[in-house]
Amino acid sequence: MKWRYGLLAVVMIVGAVSGWWLQQKKGCVSVSPPPVVPPTVILLSIDTVRADHVGCYGYPRNTTPTIDRLAQESVRYRQVMSVAPNTAPAHMSMLTGMSPLVHGVHIYGKDGNYRTLAAEIPTLAELLHQHGYHTVGLTNSLQVGKVLGFARGFDRYEDDFFSVDGMYRDPVATEQNSRQRWREVLAEANQRRQPLFAFLHHFLNHSVYLAPPREYRERFADQLLDFLPRSHVELPNRPGVLDDDRRFFETVTGEDMRQRGHVAALYDGALAYSDHTVQIMIEELRAAGRWENTLFILVSDHGEELYEHKCWGHSQLWAEHLKVPLLVKFPAGHAAGRVIEQPVQTDALAPTILAVLGMPIPPTMQAAPLPPLQVTSPAPRFSYQPECDGQGEPQLTGMRVSTDSYTWFWHNRLPEIEFLFAATDTMEQHNLAEQQPAECRRLRAMTEEKMAADRAWRAHLLAHAGAAEE
Ligand SMILES: [Zn+2]
Repeated sequence: MKWRYGLLAVVMIVGAVSGWWLQQKKGCVSVSPPPVVPPTVILLSIDTVRADHVGCYGYPRNTTPTIDRLAQESVRYRQVMSVAPNTAPAHMSMLTGMSPLVHGVHIYGKDGNYRTLAAEIPTLAELLHQHGYHTVGLTNSLQVGKVLGFARGFDRYEDDFFSVDGMYRDPVATEQNSRQRWREVLAEANQRRQPLFAFLHHFLNHSVYLAPPREYRERFADQLLDFLPRSHVELPNRPGVLDDDRRFFETVTGEDMRQRGHVAALYDGALAYSDHTVQIMIEELRAAGRWENTLFILVSDHGEELYEHKCWGHSQLWAEHLKVPLLVKFPAGHAAGRVIEQPVQTDALAPTILAVLGMPIPPTMQAAPLPPLQVTSPAPRFSYQPECDGQGEPQLTGMRVSTDSYTWFWHNRLPEIEFLFAATDTMEQHNLAEQQPAECRRLRAMTEEKMAADRAWRAHLLAHAGAAEE
């Protein structure tokens, strides 16, 4: 392995230096000098985190002390929109730099109703693996599972990390087990003398917000759980909780502000426990001597509605379903504490990682690296509501575009199909679609043009590789 590491270092230095020069020539700004020792790269995705419940994004409750401290060492992106309100397409966009209509991975259905990533679509893990990285993925969700193609390019991919069912059975043992496995990953990386890329994802923050230990469940809810059925409160020892999602939400009504507050308090408790898991990951990185030279990205795949638009959960195109936190801690503390106001999207993560490492960004990736790595002019932001149909070409049930002035979206599963909001209407309460048909037409045309471009790009990628989609 040693020769491989040495060759990698040479490739990295040459690549990084040439990347540095290219970026300077194009008038872009690099936040860090070329890395001499390849950094550890951690992409940590906590499922279902809405940005406005995170402390460093202005939330008054102390839900996220670890993440708030991390923000001081990181670049914080203040306006981040996921490309999709669902777990599978959002993560695949992070790992491919492509829109859901191009990579085509939309959702995992137990009855085989899903589409696996086509062999012709390259992933970040594959690229890093080719450049000598040891690649590890740890998740606990089938929505980010091997069957959808998420394991491609990973040397090791496990899908029972921080298991939700395990938390119900024994929270202490599950936490210890997760910490131990993370230690083993770091120790193995040290032994292999390869740089490490780890994609970490867990579901502890997902509804019904009851998986974490009791101290977290009650941190903000306190004695206010009296409206919930006892079966929802007397935990642990109740596996299979995610199947109970619907039953849980049938027991509460968002029209009652007290109950609505209780659900938000449970969500915040789960978020506090998720924050604790971030602390575990960082503690072990520090103990392994890797923290300084780590590119650490903390993000979520989508937000969560707490009844702002008369629904719970996520899978629609309202802002609270899509706005997520994003922190990027660059190696050696570059740009620490900086806040970026420019709106960005989560499909930028793969090209961002490659840019930091000085690796070429393949033309297959549609997204550009995040600022300040690459300075781009403001562009419309698109988000996609994928159809849960695994047959044929990928389809949508809705699509959203946001410009600096307006947000417009259609969604064929809502009573009203078309929505237009002024950018100043951040809670998206006043639908202007009827009053401003010309603006609707303009933005609808923009989404249709983007859909056509995505479909053409997918067709090109599949045809270019000379093989049909699996
Ligand atoms: Zn998710």
